[in-house]
Amino acid sequence: MVRRTLVAMAAALLAACGAQEDRIVEQRLFAMGTWVDIRLGAAEPDAARDALGEIEDMLRSYERDYYAWGDGELARLNAGLRDGRTVEVSTELAELLRDARRLSEQSGGVFDPGVGALVELWGFHADPAAVAGPPDPARIDAWLAAGASIADLTISDSGVSTSAGGLLLDLGGIAKGDAVDRMIRILRRRGIENAIVNAGGDLRALGTRGGRAWRIGIQSPRGAGILAVVELGDGESAFTSGDYERYFEYEDERLHHILDPTTGYPADHTQAITVIAADGVTADAAATALFVAGPARWRDVARAMGVRLALRVDASGRIEATGEMRDRLDLPDGPGTDIIVVGSEGKSP
Ligand code: ADP
Ligand code: MG
Repeated sequence: MVRRTLVAMAAALLAACGAQEDRIVEQRLFAMGTWVDIRLGAAEPDAARDALGEIEDMLRSYERDYYAWGDGELARLNAGLRDGRTVEVSTELAELLRDARRLSEQSGGVFDPGVGALVELWGFHADPAAVAGPPDPARIDAWLAAGASIADLTISDSGVSTSAGGLLLDLGGIAKGDAVDRMIRILRRRGIENAIVNAGGDLRALGTRGGRAWRIGIQSPRGAGILAVVELGDGESAFTSGDYERYFEYEDERLHHILDPTTGYPADHTQAITVIAADGVTADAAATALFVAGPARWRDVARAMGVRLALRVDASGRIEATGEMRDRLDLPDGPGTDIIVVGSEGKSP
């Protein structure tokens, strides 16, 4: 979910004690509505400072430009689409829209950034705590009947357009993955080989932590505690979609922000999905897609999206995983270790 505010925390450069290769530089920023923690291992101080500065600048414009309800590039594109115009967009946005459309198609439409108007109907573009209840079913039916989807988008050299009236793009299910990928590209370009960027429990790793693989702990979607520990390879990304991130309670039901585009309602069969993939865009889109796909289809949708590593917690708390994920799961090994918890809200320090 891309949101507007970014409060740059004072650059907290903590040089940990120990051998040179154990030295970790850390910085925490508030961006896209969440805390972003960046850890760099054994970095040259100058390279680290320059990379962190570039990342901060990138995030500041990113959260404005990729948020559908603000005044940045995506909001301007949506305004143009609403008016039936062809809108020129940056190469970067065009590329993300192409990726999003491809991933949506691979998912069979369960991941669909064309859900913006539906998200608006439910009120998840704003503060869910302020929502009194679900929308009028007649309005959901009208949205379903209009059938606007990212598949209806035309992306060409001259710009982006659509013939589908009522199409409102919301990149909230994929933009954090894109932002994490951009952070990793900046770090690589600056010669930083060991790092982890963690955006509120969604992350991507580079290299190792002092020679040992970065280790993540998958958070239990209900209460504290870690379900399992996984080692991440160089460049791997882990993203979680959970029903505990943005929701409101209505008549004892948890109504959350991950919507099934075929019913117009929150998918109610899943508590959380964690996906590990080679890049953040794929992991983020797939986590949202597999969440919506549900018990009968999630394995097929994973395969179609090229995802081999996924762990699902169903509505009753039962855990299931792909074979390759099962092979990589380790048991949690007590407190005080170097595990980075994923799937957590991470919205406050
Ligand atoms: P989070 O952003 O909380 O980590 P997700 O990556 O699953 O969680 O993204 C959820 C967001 O994506 C929602 O807040 C909404 O903006 C958007 N969204 C909701 N349902 C869908 C869907 N079926 N396909 C694509 N995007 C969706
Ligand atoms: Mg997602």
